[in-house]
Amino acid sequence: MSKAYIGMGSNLGDTVGYLKQGLTELGKVEGVKIIGTAFIYKTEPIGYQDQEWFANTVAEVETSLEPLKLLKVLQDIETKLGRVRIIRWGPRTLDLDILLLGEEEIHTPDLEIPHPRITERAFVAVPLAELVPEMLLEGKKVREWAEILSKQQKITCTKEKLC
Ligand code: ADP
Ligand code: MG
Repeated sequence: MSKAYIGMGSNLGDTVGYLKQGLTELGKVEGVKIIGTAFIYKTEPIGYQDQEWFANTVAEVETSLEPLKLLKVLQDIETKLGRVRIIRWGPRTLDLDILLLGEEEIHTPDLEIPHPRITERAFVAVPLAELVPEMLLEGKKVREWAEILSKQQKITCTKEKLC
């Protein structure tokens, strides 16, 4: 079993509802056990600005699944919950990303672990810092990335959790 951290985001319709449904679906998958989640955050869209604010969080899970199998599981849940890919970084009902998976380091076009946007996006680094503050990524601790990025990007903690 490996610890994995799954980045979750939604900005269409009932955003927190989509995060909840996503977590419920993830918990049903054989070989995946939900350990806990960070707080839910409201964050400003980045990349493609003309869209609603996001609800974001990170789930901590234990999994026996291989990296590509876990990616497939996450993509199937996205599709099940109605995600249609129209604009890259555009509006979505649910986005599920593998942020970290055990000690895996993978650099392929279809899968990068650790996820390259942990050190670029407050909506990833800030919730992840609640769960693994001391983990080192690209020469800094996750909590240091969270501090730097939250000064550059608008992010508000709701103090609510999915579970
Ligand atoms: P984004 O998450 O960047 O907003 P998408 O969810 O549309 O955009 O993902 C685009 C592609 O990113 C997916 O087809 C997937 O193959 C790839 N990808 C690479 N690394 C990862 C990862 N760690 N987790 C999830 N998807 C990843
Ligand atoms: Mg994604």
